[in-house]
Amino acid sequence: MVRENLEEVNNRILAACKRAGRNPEEVTLIAVSKTKPAVMISEAYSAGARDFGENKVQELCEKHLALPEDIRWHMIGHLQRNKVKQVIDKTVLIHSVDSIRLAEQIEEEAARKNLIVDILLEVNVAEEESKYGFKLGETESALRRIASLPHVKIKGLMTIAPFVEKSEENRPVFKKLRQFYVDMQSKNVDNVSMNMLSMGMTGDYEIAIEEGATLVRVGTGIFGTRYYMNT
Ligand SMILES: *Cc1c(COP(=O)(O)O)cnc(C)c1O
Repeated sequence: MVRENLEEVNNRILAACKRAGRNPEEVTLIAVSKTKPAVMISEAYSAGARDFGENKVQELCEKHLALPEDIRWHMIGHLQRNKVKQVIDKTVLIHSVDSIRLAEQIEEEAARKNLIVDILLEVNVAEEESKYGFKLGETESALRRIASLPHVKIKGLMTIAPFVEKSEENRPVFKKLRQFYVDMQSKNVDNVSMNMLSMGMTGDYEIAIEEGATLVRVGTGIFGTRYYMNT
């Protein structure tokens, strides 16, 4: 199942790249494995997947310990400052930096461990109350502040688009973030390499690719529906 789904998603990524005239090598698929057991991750791994996304620190740490070392773990969920310490040396990229305070905490822990931590700034493009992230209007000043932190390296931007009936409705959201991304690239801020744009999930990754995404985060489309226990 996982293998077939992964193949299907990869084919759709190729098709979206073709439509958009993009090189498929510019797009990385992150298999979002949150709530899913190691056995399913292993199946995706056997089928060639190496980039996996998790949204909870504890779950990421457990899976990091249990699964092959060459997996690239992406932290994609809201990160509490008191958990930064546990996760910074287990993830290749934190997609969800949503405040200056969080970035400063990452700086502090990264300096202690003598690491440079790659991050994306999460932008709440649609300004939804329920979502984390910087508003577009405040992102540039936050980016400049965070860029001054020597152990934190901004690599780009991330957004979670609204939940919509038809994925096409999110095209303007992706377009807007992409425009801002290109604008930031042209400003060439010191200590920032603006070359990653993380946008698109199961419902809308093809549109996100057409609009310039370089990282897509697909969970359900690979691993099936998630069931949450009542806690
Ligand atoms: C869960 C999650 C995804 C994957 O969602 P699907 O709709 O299952 O593909 C992507 N990004 C973030 C930040 C998530 O939390």
